[in-house]
Amino acid sequence: MKRYLQKLPAELKEIINLAAQVSQDIGMPAYLVGGFLRDLILGVQNFDIDITVEGSGIVFAQALAKRLKSDLRIHERFGTATLTLGNCLKVDVATARLEKYPSCASLPVVSSGSLKEDLRRRDFTINAMAASLVGADEHKLIDPFGGQNDLASGRIRILHDLSFRDDPTRILRAIRFQQRFNFKIEPKTLKLLKQAIEEGLLKKVHSHRMRDELILMLKEIDPSKQMKRLNDLGGLSFLSDKLRFTKSTHDLFKLIDKEIRWFVKNFSSRRKLDSWLIYFMALLKSLNLAQVKIIILKLGLRKGEEKRIINDHQNSHKITLSLSKRGVRPAHIFTLLELLSYEEIILLRASSQVKCLKKYIKDFLEIYNGMRLFVSGHDLHGLGILPGPRYEKIFAQVLVAKLNAEVKTRSQELALIKKLIKS
Ligand code: ATP
Repeated sequence: MKRYLQKLPAELKEIINLAAQVSQDIGMPAYLVGGFLRDLILGVQNFDIDITVEGSGIVFAQALAKRLKSDLRIHERFGTATLTLGNCLKVDVATARLEKYPSCASLPVVSSGSLKEDLRRRDFTINAMAASLVGADEHKLIDPFGGQNDLASGRIRILHDLSFRDDPTRILRAIRFQQRFNFKIEPKTLKLLKQAIEEGLLKKVHSHRMRDELILMLKEIDPSKQMKRLNDLGGLSFLSDKLRFTKSTHDLFKLIDKEIRWFVKNFSSRRKLDSWLIYFMALLKSLNLAQVKIIILKLGLRKGEEKRIINDHQNSHKITLSLSKRGVRPAHIFTLLELLSYEEIILLRASSQVKCLKKYIKDFLEIYNGMRLFVSGHDLHGLGILPGPRYEKIFAQVLVAKLNAEVKTRSQELALIKKLIKS
């Protein structure tokens, strides 16, 4: 592994060296594992370091955080901890553990274990390798299931026949890694994966776990590839028997890619988009509201996510129609779009090829979005109006005038307010 480690950026090498020192100092063997090691061998950049510790991952993480002066979040229940350094560097530390699944798709019973046991509980051979940070075997690859060979041949392979029954989220994980790396799912693994889907095992998993794995698929570089493969394997049926990834969904995903790039390029100072949600809303387009609501419930989506999905489902058609005409006044554009999230707005733009609609959305984001008045409550008070619902009504009328360029300056705003009071 030495030659792979030498190629790492300096900041990663430094963290790994410090981790090795900590391992030695506290006398707990520590190993590089999981996705970090896989990507290291593949030559893919990965700034999430995965470390497994024989002993206590938490004690190890506390000592490492002290030396790195990093933020530390401890998950006592799972014996894990996460260290964050700056914006994009993360170290996930776990206690080596043994997992037993009492029944299909149940949560495992966990106890601390050896590195061998920890590797045996993992999803695929390519994720079940380790490299010791210290000792006689320092930096030597520990690869009990032939992960390196599978990486070289581009194969996703489970470790034992009951793997998908133990944890059906691995079905989504297998597809995700296969599509991400352009690998193949090894024939026996594929047969067991299809069997697990046919038996409806995905429906048995706790909603939040499915939500998390589905979101990870939609966050991949090409979510369209991910959903197509899941659809082809019959895996979308766990959400709804009516759900399909069709050619038109594929085309819509591609248009969304383009609109997201446009948004990120032009509005980088706005909040970060929940891109996965845009694709998810697009995926649900062909379903009716009742079907969509069942899926939201099945995945235990958060309130904010639910609100955006339902709002899009109920209003996007109406809004598209209203914005597909020439000469819509800015105040009307503002009223239609101000209540939408950026995710819904991007989906609106991707779903329509009408030029003026695209221009209205661009104007909204560039000019009207977040537009403020010069006047305030103090001014209204100064004009003898007592605070109350009338304030909001007056402000709304002034805003409409401002959007339509009928008032521009503070004194024009004040003049309009005086006129409104009189009338
Ligand atoms: P990514 O590159 O997407 O971050 P990763 O392999 O780092 O992928 P994580 O979800 O961060 O994936 O998990 C870290 C490691 O934990 C995996 O490499 C795998 O060994 C193990 N793992 C994660 N989820 C499961 C699971 N459901 N079953 C078994 N092992 C798992």
